[in-house]
Amino acid sequence: MDGRNSRIASSVALACALALLLGLVLAPVGRAYDTPQRLNEVLRVYSLGVGEVRCASRAEWEADPYSKRYWAYTNVRKEYAVLAPHICEGALEVANTQVPAWERAVGTLVLVHEAFHLRHWRYRRNEGKVECQAMVYFTEAAKRLGASEAEANNLYPYALTWHWRHDKELPWEHDKACILPPWIPPTPDSRRSENLSALTR
Ligand SMILES: [Zn+2]
Repeated sequence: MDGRNSRIASSVALACALALLLGLVLAPVGRAYDTPQRLNEVLRVYSLGVGEVRCASRAEWEADPYSKRYWAYTNVRKEYAVLAPHICEGALEVANTQVPAWERAVGTLVLVHEAFHLRHWRYRRNEGKVECQAMVYFTEAAKRLGASEAEANNLYPYALTWHWRHDKELPWEHDKACILPPWIPPTPDSRRSENLSALTR
């Protein structure tokens, strides 16, 4: 990161860092991370089979220098991504409405984002292009992780808001060519109909 990035990054909770430079090797704090099968299966759909996603333990994450500014990062040389515990939880619990919606949405988005850093394509180091692909595949990925179609669409506005926030705070990473999928608003379901009929009684 250059000075400008460092300054601004310190003011926001950025989702991702690329451990691209200097062959950076982080000091291991034991091997406490987990590699959940479901996250790795979904990751590899979008990375085209490349790499591994690791869920850091809380102690490991707190000791990780990237945790000061980021919620995830990818080491493109060694082909693995590390996610903060709450990001892993959000992605793993995407169908669990007891977990905050923003956490499930951001967990899903970050997982797909890191997958596109791992994928061997020409834009793997381009934050804007990678983020665009994460948005394009967001609802599909949420369903692969276990969300219903309705819940995937329900979570999409959280992903959109996160994406816009990222664009606003890091405008130099914005991909002007990105075409975001439209949000598909929910149609009134039976539960809503029941509520409405209850109100009119
Ligand atoms: Zn990134």
